[in-house]
Amino acid sequence: MTVRLRYAPSPTGHLHIGGARTALFNYLYAKHMGGDFILRIEDTDLERNIDRAADEFAKNLGWLGIVWDEGPDVGGKFGPYISTERLSIYEHYVEVLKEKGLAYHCYCSEEEIAAERDAAMAKGEVPRYSGHCRHLTATQISEYEAMGRKPVVRFLAANDQELRFHDLIRGELVFEPSGLGGDFVIVKSNGIPTYNFACTIDDHLMEITHVVRGEEHISNTPRQLLLYQALGWEPPHFGHVSLILGPNGKKLSKRDESIVQFVEQYRDMGYLPEALFNYLALLGWSPGGEQEFFNKDELIAAFTLDRVHKSGAFFDAARLSWMNSHYLKQQDAANLLPLVQPLLTDDQVQGLSNEWLTEWISLYQEKISQLDELPQMGASFFVEIPKLDEEANSMLNQETAQQVVKSFHEQVKNTALWTEEHIKPIFKTVQSETGKKGKDLFMPIRAAVMGSLHGPDLHRSLILLGQARVLTRLESVIK
Ligand code: GLU
Repeated sequence: MTVRLRYAPSPTGHLHIGGARTALFNYLYAKHMGGDFILRIEDTDLERNIDRAADEFAKNLGWLGIVWDEGPDVGGKFGPYISTERLSIYEHYVEVLKEKGLAYHCYCSEEEIAAERDAAMAKGEVPRYSGHCRHLTATQISEYEAMGRKPVVRFLAANDQELRFHDLIRGELVFEPSGLGGDFVIVKSNGIPTYNFACTIDDHLMEITHVVRGEEHISNTPRQLLLYQALGWEPPHFGHVSLILGPNGKKLSKRDESIVQFVEQYRDMGYLPEALFNYLALLGWSPGGEQEFFNKDELIAAFTLDRVHKSGAFFDAARLSWMNSHYLKQQDAANLLPLVQPLLTDDQVQGLSNEWLTEWISLYQEKISQLDELPQMGASFFVEIPKLDEEANSMLNQETAQQVVKSFHEQVKNTALWTEEHIKPIFKTVQSETGKKGKDLFMPIRAAVMGSLHGPDLHRSLILLGQARVLTRLESVIK
């Protein structure tokens, strides 16, 4: 039997790193088992749906390197893959349950339900739907209809036994029947099914074998199991992945803006998808051993659900950043160029060739942990004359530094060609003329040309700037 897993986001916001990790675990396990990975959009919460969110999810998952075999865009034989396009399918199963006497219309108003809940809480009891509408007479129904009440459909959850299942990550889980809250809603008053109902129908019809999702869904699983039972279906295996924890050890709050949490933000900051993929795979899973960097194929080969951690995983932004710097170093600068170009202004890139920009990137590539640091870090290349920073200024105030700069200027002025080969002897000459070497030789030149004592390789920087601009900069300092 083919293993089939799915990621089923609700399009209510941006792709969160938690969601991306869930998608990734499902994808990795499906591929590890030689099975299928499906993308399904669960948009039954109409009020919370956000325009274009589903497309953005797909775009960001795709960017990350997750590939689905079936989904809204690529289709597949179990489609449609968007809940609201499957309403007639759900209606059919509502009828099946009604025929079995396991579903009924409930006309209780929200206020009545809330009052019931409050009364239970006041008595210290677990709130539970009373079953008020289980056996309405035709007259009662027409009275409610005449009042203009719109019914919901409830599932008759008449079970008084504990429910248990073997969670793929947490082991045996047991639920008291009282915790279920009684007969639960499967179709809302607007005629749209609830998540629990749609999800169960879809997982079954799409032949999902393993449901791997966030811990926040554990309490939904017993309800879904009851639906499987009622419909006479074999449930899939369930596994619930632990929370992602913030630095304070508490569940990462999506509202905490001090922590970058959305995939597209990482993309915009210049994280490489390979880095985020690698990092998220290790967020709550580990293959054992010391290896930290894994490419996609290695992760697919190693990923099993029994090594997913039961406890929460700390989100460590510094480690992610460190991983990204590793992946940035490994890339060809030419591959980074299209990612860097959108970060630069038209003014900055005007008249610069791709070769020039590629060399500029490669000068800084080792020094950055995200691409959006580049424009600022390498800004001195885009101006005619850079502003000297304080350190550079005080260095250039020294007599000996000035001698070096003047001697260097003379040599630069007189050299006919401007390549690494020609620049090296210039330094030699300046050294013998001034008696300065090492730092005392390089620092004044760097300060004068780049405006700072820190920066990338000096020879390569000089060549990239070009002889004319180097001269202009030296002259401005000498003045
Ligand atoms: N639509 C649910 C969510 O976004 C998915 C739950 C599930 O995977 O069953 O949380």
